[in-house]
Amino acid sequence: MRTGALLAAIAIPIFGYPLAAQRGDDLLDADGSISFDHFHTWQEVNLIMERLSLRYPELTELESIGRSYEGVELLVMTITNEATGPASEKPAFYLDGGIHAAELTGSEVALYTLGYLLEHSKNDAQVRALLDTRSFYIRPKFNPDGSNLVLNTDQSLRSTVHPVDEDFDGISDEDPGEDLDGDGWITRMRQVSNSGPMCAQPEDPRILVRRQDTPPGATCYDVFPEGIDNDSDGRFSEDGIGGIDMNRNFPRNWERWHLQPGSGDYPLSEPETAATVRFINDHRNIAFIVHGHTSGGFVFRLPSASPPSLFDTTDLALIDDLSAFYSETTGRPIIPSATHPTNHRYGTLISFGYWDHGVVGWVPEYSPGPEKWVPDANGDGEVTESDWHAYNDSAFDGSYFSPWTKFDHPELGEVEIGGWHRKFWGQNPPAELLLAEVEQQVPWFLHLAGRTPLVRVAEPVIQELGNDRYRVSVTVRNDGDLATHLTQRGYEGRRTDDGRLVQQVIAPPVVTLQHRGGTIVSGGDGPLPASRMTIDHLAGANGTTTAVTARDVTVTWVVESTGPFAVRATVVSQKGGTHRSAWVRKR
Ligand SMILES: [Zn+2]
Repeated sequence: MRTGALLAAIAIPIFGYPLAAQRGDDLLDADGSISFDHFHTWQEVNLIMERLSLRYPELTELESIGRSYEGVELLVMTITNEATGPASEKPAFYLDGGIHAAELTGSEVALYTLGYLLEHSKNDAQVRALLDTRSFYIRPKFNPDGSNLVLNTDQSLRSTVHPVDEDFDGISDEDPGEDLDGDGWITRMRQVSNSGPMCAQPEDPRILVRRQDTPPGATCYDVFPEGIDNDSDGRFSEDGIGGIDMNRNFPRNWERWHLQPGSGDYPLSEPETAATVRFINDHRNIAFIVHGHTSGGFVFRLPSASPPSLFDTTDLALIDDLSAFYSETTGRPIIPSATHPTNHRYGTLISFGYWDHGVVGWVPEYSPGPEKWVPDANGDGEVTESDWHAYNDSAFDGSYFSPWTKFDHPELGEVEIGGWHRKFWGQNPPAELLLAEVEQQVPWFLHLAGRTPLVRVAEPVIQELGNDRYRVSVTVRNDGDLATHLTQRGYEGRRTDDGRLVQQVIAPPVVTLQHRGGTIVSGGDGPLPASRMTIDHLAGANGTTTAVTARDVTVTWVVESTGPFAVRATVVSQKGGTHRSAWVRKR
């Protein structure tokens, strides 16, 4: 019976993953919404995005921006209402997730957000207005190889699966952790030791506490990660899979390994980071970057990979202003990523976004951890590991903890293996709590998307000057909240000898007068009359940035015509979109 194989062959979609994800039908509910009852593999996410792109063809574009280390397509979904203009002509909001392999919630938030936008595209006024005027670029699986390794195997890793010799013995990835007891989880090993630093809590011996916090007579242990010493160097699990941290691999303020472990051999050495920078360079309409990580239950803001003293104070005020809505809606704090004058991260994505593109970015660390989502069962005013066990036992049948079990270890002798499943009880929430975590992130994204600059051009006004000459006046206005240069950094450029500011980080808006009939005899950027006129940046409703103060400007051309003619104006702003007036006729 070959029907299954035949169907699979016919149904294999453009991105070429096998329909092993035969559970595709379970991934979307009947109404097209995505189920968040489990964490999704990249195959599932790509299949969902493909299904949604077929369900909402007028709102979506699905493209691959490159391939991962293992050759998986890196998919980005563009969402906007194409009836009101192409995505590239609207200010854009960029959201990704999962650059760090085990930070699976970041991918789920991005997936949830794209589903939310599409499901609410008809009946939600806020979403409808945003899709009419803004674009969203959403990339749930920044690092498909790493996230699938975490989901499908007992292994974990920081970022890409690209092998690295982390212990400098000439061999890469030779001493990962092992699931010795075969329960599917790499947990911990404990071995009874009179001098061991950790001891069993008398009331619940599953719990290990520091020796100084236990009464005399407790059983104490040496504790190791679960595994064997594969390379006989006396250490367990010190050279696992991978070792590069892709969020240290971006080109702005990159540093080599001795200052920044995990940075890679050179900036953008990884295909996933190189694809990201290419994408951002090619999409100059991106006005915000939200780079989704997990865990902690807060958001990192700029500055990130640079000393705080270098950071513009006006921009800091603007970032606080843009961040406030997140704390209001989630109750979670926004904290600076860099606070020390010299000790800071290097080569992060949001640093690249700010210094190279003038764009504000954030790193949300989703999922606050068990301290926040476990109820205080014993009512002592704090959530301790005892409460974790009470909740895990009652709500989840104990499924997120492997009970300590005796094991005859080849190197250590008798040990016990057990502990929390940190992937889903710590770093990520249990799948049962995933939906509650992801849905609370969306209001801030919509809020940010609505705060971009948004340029509009009025119909040209034609005024007769005599002698077949006409003055054509065009008024351009920024209706958005932020200035067209977004930030003070965006306004920076090079001063020429005659005092002009050129090569600004964010290019200034350009107004173009299209004409049929007639000749332009004055106006334009250069010494000769021309249709193209560069204007200064325009302020937005938000007064925090002060490089410019005018929200609108009127520019003029002189057109000579002995007969009828027609004109229309177009304004192009890198971050504020493209807008065209109607045609205006004379005679
Ligand atoms: Zn991270």
